[in-house]
Amino acid sequence: MSEVSVTKDAGGSAPATDELVVLEGVNKHFGALHVLQDIDLTISRGEVVVVIGPSGSGKSTLCRTINRLETVDSGHISIDGRPLPQEGKELARLRSDVGMVFQSFNLFAHKTVLENVTLGQVKVRKTDKQEAEGKARTLLDRVGVGNQADKYPAQLSGGQQQRVAIARALAMDPKVMLFDEPTSALDPEMINEVLEVMQQLARDGMTMVVVTHEMGFARSAANRVVFMADGRIVEESAPEQFFSNPRSDRAKDFLSKIL
Ligand code: ADP
Ligand code: MG
Repeated sequence: MSEVSVTKDAGGSAPATDELVVLEGVNKHFGALHVLQDIDLTISRGEVVVVIGPSGSGKSTLCRTINRLETVDSGHISIDGRPLPQEGKELARLRSDVGMVFQSFNLFAHKTVLENVTLGQVKVRKTDKQEAEGKARTLLDRVGVGNQADKYPAQLSGGQQQRVAIARALAMDPKVMLFDEPTSALDPEMINEVLEVMQQLARDGMTMVVVTHEMGFARSAANRVVFMADGRIVEESAPEQFFSNPRSDRAKDFLSKIL
């Protein structure tokens, strides 16, 4: 598999800060359920943060608030120094700054692989169609599915579909990529091909938030592990520290069940 390269801002104005994603005092309820409780989280440019925790602890909701698929009840979220807009064109642009890859691949079923990776570039980024297709083909090659460009998603394996989903997100030149359990729906033999693409992205300097149960990936790719339970960030540490010496009882209990 060839390298996945990430288009970074070349030249231009220097970033004002290394802080790319900032959540401050974020709270979110679903009815009576307090699903995110006083979340403070700062993610630096180029950082890879792995989020782990029991089912129902709020990991998906956290991801969804970062690209504004969910609103928050209180607190502030900013991406690259700009507060999350409420709606309209600004919101569409922000969404394209934040790439998201879900557990269920969410490709457009009635579009070819090439169209899946081309559409957003043309519609949101207003890229010329030919240029968009060229970029799509380059990205598909890089995630190892260049020879599948004219097929429909249902004709691909799960691992291939997920790699297309990654290429589609990358086509928008996102500033940060969110992965919500990207390998959980895959057959075991396909997990590694997706994790390898993600590893390469991490090595290339992409800022990433990854919700995963793949502890091998967390150990090798993460700069930081964020452990959530009951809507709170219970613990944050370097992976070596977290896996060898978790501080909280919740984390010890969780690790004893999955390792
Ligand atoms: P995780 O991803 O850690 O498993 P989620 O963020 O999906 O957790 O969910 C956290 C809690 O919020 C769960 O109890 C879940 O049932 C609840 N929840 C998630 N989405 C909704 C929703 N749209 N409406 C009501 N409850 C929800
Ligand atoms: Mg989830």
